[in-house]
Amino acid sequence: MFLPLTKKEMEIRGWEEADFLCVTGDAYVDHPSFGMAIVSRLLEKLGYRVAVIAQPVSDGDFTRFGPPKYGWFVNGGNIDSMVSHYTAAKRLRRGDAYSPGGQSGRRPDRALTVYCRQIRKLYPQAQIVIGGLEASMRRFAHYDYWNDSVMPSVLADSEADLLIYGMGEKQTEYIAAQLAQGTPARQIRCRGTCYLTDEPDLPRENAVTIASFTKVSSDKHSYARATKVQMEEQDPVRGRKIIQKHDYNTFLVQMEPMEPLNTAELDAVFAMPFQRMYHPSYEKQGGVPAIAEVEFSIMQNRGCFGSCNFCSIAFHQGSRVTCRSIPSIVAEAERFVQNPRFKGIISDVGGPSANFRHPSCEKQLTKGSCPNRKCLAPRPCPNVKVDHTEYLELLRRLRAIPGIRKVFVRSGLRYDYMMLEKDDTFMRELLAHHVSGQLKVAPEHCSPQVLDCMGKPHIGVYEKFSQRFYRLTKEVGKEQYLVPYFISSHPGSTLKDAIQLAVFMKRHHIHPEQVQDFYPTPGTVSTCMFYTGLDPMTMKEVYVPKSQEEKWLQRALLQYFKPENRRAVITALKKARREDLIGTGPDCLVPPERNQTAKVKFHAKKGRSYPPKKKK
Ligand code: SF4
Repeated sequence: MFLPLTKKEMEIRGWEEADFLCVTGDAYVDHPSFGMAIVSRLLEKLGYRVAVIAQPVSDGDFTRFGPPKYGWFVNGGNIDSMVSHYTAAKRLRRGDAYSPGGQSGRRPDRALTVYCRQIRKLYPQAQIVIGGLEASMRRFAHYDYWNDSVMPSVLADSEADLLIYGMGEKQTEYIAAQLAQGTPARQIRCRGTCYLTDEPDLPRENAVTIASFTKVSSDKHSYARATKVQMEEQDPVRGRKIIQKHDYNTFLVQMEPMEPLNTAELDAVFAMPFQRMYHPSYEKQGGVPAIAEVEFSIMQNRGCFGSCNFCSIAFHQGSRVTCRSIPSIVAEAERFVQNPRFKGIISDVGGPSANFRHPSCEKQLTKGSCPNRKCLAPRPCPNVKVDHTEYLELLRRLRAIPGIRKVFVRSGLRYDYMMLEKDDTFMRELLAHHVSGQLKVAPEHCSPQVLDCMGKPHIGVYEKFSQRFYRLTKEVGKEQYLVPYFISSHPGSTLKDAIQLAVFMKRHHIHPEQVQDFYPTPGTVSTCMFYTGLDPMTMKEVYVPKSQEEKWLQRALLQYFKPENRRAVITALKKARREDLIGTGPDCLVPPERNQTAKVKFHAKKGRSYPPKKKK
């Protein structure tokens, strides 16, 4: 049974009011891949009466259930509302997979802020707690790509009382109990949250202060230094509180990160009675497209120690990997078999990085992750624990369940982590049973300086992986392909780097159908580079392609083979003084211009050299 979405559904349950109202920028989809579904089901499990307000627009949407007895939990949706609405080129997207019928425009820009202000206007005494990706990644003063300026913490901007960052189950449980006891949300102190306070109330111990909102808004070096501290302190073992002044007497305090859920706790979350479907009221609008990707997929882990600089996972979920137990995952798959919509295919068994089932090393558990290096890049740390046996066991158990025909892995697989495995057993079975014709991996670039800016391993690892992939694919008797993903215009990428990537693609016969431009989403290390022109971890200057023209040229180079990109590719090659790549040689990206081609043919016929010598 879904939680109430309408007043009538609340009355059917015999409730006169709700204890908590959950507001979300997405349609109401009761599936564990939706953050608000987890929060609402958790509150229900704890014995509270919970109702859901999805994509509210009018005052009437917010007042439908009357004020809640204890408080509001608000999120902007599964992804940041601005990313949801706009492309990397800041153009309006045509659709929205998280809305009924895939329609765009069902939530406002900066949904979290708009919703909270509306609640505050209607109920000035409301206790408002915000969470989800939009809250998490905008918890400090942050660069906003769409405004092209630094914005204050979304906690200050939204007029909410408390902000949950990261995966919020433990925080939600504690906060709900405190609110039910009458503690005002602004006075709740809990790991994994941020609050606003004044100077006398600032924490004195285990705290570090970063540059104020005013300072980071006007000084890019201060912004970069603040980013470094934010990244370094996101560890549940050694992370400290972070203080950032926002107003003349208003300070944002980020409490220490919350300990991630352990296996038993994660199992308990996924055992909650999710309907794994959108609310039936959306049926006549065509359903909610996002369900198609996730209805019969399984999330087996959380966190990622890959920590790529453009990714939000490490700053949101954390870099410590935790996972569900095999029996919990098998039980979920067995429930699929009972579902009349299930066609016998599990579309994914993954998570942020599908093939992680362990923390990076033993030390990460006791002393925390290293503040000054990454586990896998540019070279793997010798302490990384490499072990695919449990993941392999999980995949074997799933494909042995009667009624399951296929088990695919579609989440990102860390190929560099796979390459640390000397034995072929895991990869051989993966290729034999769990790839549906194409394996997508993400080398992202080939230029060493761009890969260093991304926090990714150098391209030689991908090249070795590619050889291993095709050797093992042949051995298991399959015809399947490796599909590498690349990002254009990431900080650090000059036109020369983009040309290097285009040549690399040509040599490796890579023809991407789509190209992803770098997207400066809130709160990542790469976004800091984009804004400041500095790598916050080293404070070294970084080249940033920003003009529309250069982005257009870099993007065109990645699809140099398309006739419509010819003009841009020639422009790029001329700008970079690489006219040697216009022609018919093996590395040439475009053939010579038509009149030149004609001349070449003409002179070739006559056995003359080209270019023809001028007559005297
Ligand atoms: S010791 Fe190595 S594997 Fe462990 S956290 Fe540090 S960088 Fe990662």
